[in-house]
Amino acid sequence: MRLLSPIIAKLHARLCPRSWSAMWLLLLVVCSASAPLANAERTLQGESCLSLKEIARSLGLSLKVIVPQEATYLEGKGIKLKFQSNKRDCMVQDVKVVLGFPATLCVGDLYISKRDYEGTLLPILLPQRFRMPHAGKVHRVVIDPGHGGKDQGAENKSMGLVEKKLALDLAQRLCALLKSKGYEVILTRTEDVFVGLEARSLFSNKQKADLFISVHFNTAPTPQAHGVETFALTSCMQVSSGRSKLEAEDRKSFPGNQWDPWNVLLGFYMQRALIQDLEAQDRGLKRARFVVLKDLACPGVLIEGGFLTNPQEAKKIQDPAYRQKIAIAIAEGVDQYHQTLKRLASQTPAA
Ligand SMILES: [Zn+2]
Repeated sequence: MRLLSPIIAKLHARLCPRSWSAMWLLLLVVCSASAPLANAERTLQGESCLSLKEIARSLGLSLKVIVPQEATYLEGKGIKLKFQSNKRDCMVQDVKVVLGFPATLCVGDLYISKRDYEGTLLPILLPQRFRMPHAGKVHRVVIDPGHGGKDQGAENKSMGLVEKKLALDLAQRLCALLKSKGYEVILTRTEDVFVGLEARSLFSNKQKADLFISVHFNTAPTPQAHGVETFALTSCMQVSSGRSKLEAEDRKSFPGNQWDPWNVLLGFYMQRALIQDLEAQDRGLKRARFVVLKDLACPGVLIEGGFLTNPQEAKKIQDPAYRQKIAIAIAEGVDQYHQTLKRLASQTPAA
């Protein structure tokens, strides 16, 4: 509700006394979108948590508990959530989202971290609660093909696949698609040259990008790992997906963190489009403090389009038609994000 105060102040300034009844009607509608979570917090393992029962009540969703240890579902109003005890993975609209803190069972109820609820779930479920970046404008997109030059990235030597080349190819395909949809697109590199990590976000900031998309292919020590994952910058005081404990770095905030809700929403749309279009394994919307995301002056994500170290997935990625499919999915993600911002901008009074 705190986030509504700038809207209220703006409405006060803009509306004449005769329109106050209209203003209060609007506020009533906005505020009734969800009931407050009063006195619903409980500290579990040092983390402030909310019960799913209370979250369901607040959002007006129905709660279905199969077995508390196995799965709890929250459904209704077009929303579908699934949580499991002791798991950081949850399902949001059938897309895997990795939380910072595991869902925790306490006195028969499942709890999730308040930080995860407010910082990861609400931006996806109720983006209208957050102030939009660049007044909702999404026009200039910077695409960042990972690696380049002396930095090969991931490799599959037996198949002759090199990440830096595949990432550039994917970026060029995405560039053409986004341009055909009317976006202005700039690449951080258009050739096989080395570009430092800090230089990539700096370049995006200089170009005054509205959106930043870094594209990569993955590698793992074992050939079994496969699937697609999307990364958004980890929020301050949140544990990155690759670790389980809070460390000193987690207490820092970076310039890119000012876009936290929109990084998450963009990442969610990307991951959903990718797993639906590619029918690839859903490794989830994850969080990491990647150098290319830390200093961004606009929302951004990093996409891992599949594993070069998995023989089946590498074979797919080798096929230009599959890389085109990845590009189409990413472009769909951009479009969905853009449409949401346009819709929200049309509902918000002009500044
Ligand atoms: Zn990479």
